[in-house]
Amino acid sequence: MIRGGPSLALACDACDAEVRQPLGPATHDVTCRVCGRAHALQAFETPPGSAPVGRCLRCGCARLYVQKDFNRRLGLWVFAVAALLSVPTWGLSLLVATLVDLALYTVLPDVTLCYNCGAQHRGFPRNPEHGAYDLHVAEVVARGPRAA
Ligand SMILES: [Zn+2]
Ligand SMILES: [Zn+2]
Repeated sequence: MIRGGPSLALACDACDAEVRQPLGPATHDVTCRVCGRAHALQAFETPPGSAPVGRCLRCGCARLYVQKDFNRRLGLWVFAVAALLSVPTWGLSLLVATLVDLALYTVLPDVTLCYNCGAQHRGFPRNPEHGAYDLHVAEVVARGPRAA
């Protein structure tokens, strides 16, 4: 994986494995490495990564949200270890964990996710129209495209 290059990650339709594929101007589908299933992509208007994502590259849904590309499980482990160490360190470890968390949050890149299919778009410039995850929008999308 080239950090910073545009890529798309999705859950395979057939086997549910996470498939992550770098995107080039000639990329037309994402192929699962586990079961070989190909997932067709939307046609690119511009070469991937040269402009912010306007629509999900997989399903074409225009409802997208942005979050930090943060491994939540790793974040939880940092806090779990900090909690264990908080007694011998007089709570200092929790403070350190909070600082580590903050530092990670500042340096980590954004990832743009689709409300509809959950596809993750990495390596694109941030689209100012996209905000953080909104439960209300997620419910509207879940109810169906007509309601949106
Ligand atoms: Zn698969
Ligand atoms: Zn989508």
